[in-house]
Amino acid sequence: MAEAKLIDGKAYALRLRERVGKGVRELFAAKGKKPGLATVLVGDDAASQVYVKSKGRVAAELGMASFDHRLSADTSETELLALIGSLNIDPAIHGILVQLPLPRHIDTAHVLLAVDPNKDVDGFHPINVGRLSSVAPGAPLDFPVPCTPLGVSMLLADVLGSLAGKTAVVVGRSNLVGRPVAQLLLRADCTVTIAHSRTRDLPGLCRTADIAVVAIGKPEFVRGDWIKPGAAVIDVGINRLPADNGKSRLVGDVAFAEALKVAGHLSPVPGGVGPMTVACLMYNTLQEARRAAGLKFAAI
Ligand code: NAP
Repeated sequence: MAEAKLIDGKAYALRLRERVGKGVRELFAAKGKKPGLATVLVGDDAASQVYVKSKGRVAAELGMASFDHRLSADTSETELLALIGSLNIDPAIHGILVQLPLPRHIDTAHVLLAVDPNKDVDGFHPINVGRLSSVAPGAPLDFPVPCTPLGVSMLLADVLGSLAGKTAVVVGRSNLVGRPVAQLLLRADCTVTIAHSRTRDLPGLCRTADIAVVAIGKPEFVRGDWIKPGAAVIDVGINRLPADNGKSRLVGDVAFAEALKVAGHLSPVPGGVGPMTVACLMYNTLQEARRAAGLKFAAI
């Protein structure tokens, strides 16, 4: 059997970013408004600093206004909620991103609930979680959808076209990835099974899947012989392992070399889902800026 076709998330994300940039220019031409993205980082976690910086940089590259809020690790929940309250009513801001994880003394659920659902470009507010879980099959996603799952669904639609009737197994049930991915696949008329750490015979279940989306955070856990020949496999996992040169290397949750021999389409790590997350954040921010300017939702 031929090797799987690689799903080039990097190239797709670049194209999406170009479309968002064009949408930003069109919005400015029509309404004189620039989408504004506020990033909020509490504490000095090194990885979070890198993520927030790259989000601000991409927003600026696409012609958006980017507002960077850095708060010290001992910021109280009350102070953080006050900042979010002021961002909620600021007409220059269309997207608010609170970088997770938050320090332990802050209740993440309180914070996510405080963000205006129409500025919740991460799609984590319970209102947006509810919108996604009640969206009709095929209906427009005219509300913020969590970025990584949205990226997964865009890549699948790009390589497979219609997903209707396909069996999909989502391995992982987190609110961040697994559950929203499953909702998106259900909306696309897949027959969806969600697997987790208590699932029995996970290899056997995976072998039934036309589409397997794996998001568990365990390096190379899903083996080649778990994959149905010809299936589309999306590997969301990002795991850092020590490399021979003393540095480290990134691997996914799927044993890549094995899966390559069996799958029909396979997303690599890195270069698969990863680049889609920031691109979808920009997509969500543009959509919310368009909404605030009184424009109808339009797929970009
Ligand atoms: P998470 O919150 O830790 O959830 C992991 C899920 O995997 C849980 O539902 C867990 O089941 C399940 N699981 C763990 N071990 C399992 C096993 N042996 N068999 C079956 N299921 C198992 O992780 P997450 O936030 O969803 O992230 C998952 C991975 O995606 C991580 O590697 C993360 O770094 C990556 N990620 C990538 C991006 C990106 O931009 N590409 C974005 C987000 C996350 P239980 O519920 O039963 O515990």
